[in-house]
Parts: sequence; structure tokens; C-alpha cells
Amino acid sequence: MPDLITHSAFAYALTRSQRFDRFRVIFYLGTVLPDVITRPFYIINPHLYPYTVAVHTPLFMILFCLLAAEFFIEPLRKPVRLYLLAGVFLHLFLDFFQRHIESGYLWLFPFSWKTFEIGLFWPETPLMLAPLWLTLIAAYEAIRLLRKKSD
Ligand SMILES: [Zn+2]
Repeated sequence: MPDLITHSAFAYALTRSQRFDRFRVIFYLGTVLPDVITRPFYIINPHLYPYTVAVHTPLFMILFCLLAAEFFIEPLRKPVRLYLLAGVFLHLFLDFFQRHIESGYLWLFPFSWKTFEIGLFWPETPLMLAPLWLTLIAAYEAIRLLRKKSD
């Protein structure tokens, strides 16, 4: 799991287009959702680990997003579904590059208990890069503000 700052930084980089203006927050929520609804339970009670592994899967997250969108008024349900799912899949895509000591994420749960990953980095690697992501975002926003003032 890349940390939530890294997940959010990638979401930030991908949502600079005006197309995201109305639902950017929903996309951000999707990018952190798989970890937000699993990690606290696992950290508080490590015995819940098998349950949280099942929740941090594409199938469960799709069902969760479809259900969550139903809490919005009818005209917003479809875009909320779309942006929430897009955020979740960005999250899972980044997680796919992580390396695990033991078994990794169960991408095809409950159809398969096999796990596979690209294994490009250890979990702590993105955490060490988090200050870099925040600095890049701050620099980008500062330049954007300066350009806006000069116009
Ligand atoms: Zn994750």
C-alpha cells in the first residue's frame, strides 16, 4: 500500500483537467477508500486481518462504490459511481506495483486466492517520497497562482 499522501498526489496529478472540477473530491475519496475502510480495523485489531484483506479487493470495492452512490440524489449517482470507481481503480493500480514479504493483495477474490504483483517497491518507499510529492504539488500551485496574478 502506498501511503495516502502518495495515493492523493497521484490523484492530484491526474485531476488537473477541468473535467474533474465537479467530482474531484469524489475521485480523491475513491483513491483513499480501499485503505481508509480497511487499515483502521486491522491496526486496532490485527485479528481482523483476513476480513480486511477481503475488503481491499476489486470486487468488494466495486460493490461498495455502487452502494455508496445510492446515497446520492438520482442525477448524481452515475457520475459519483464513475468517479468513485475510477479513484478506487487508481488506488488498486498503484498497489499493484508494491512488493510484499508474505502474500499480497487478492485481486481475484473470492474466485481465486492467488496473489500476484509487479513488486516494484516496498511499502515504505512511497512514504519516504511523500515529502517530494508534497513539494512538487506546492511548487505547481505556487506557479499557478503567480500566473493567475500576472494575467
Ligand atoms: Zn491499498
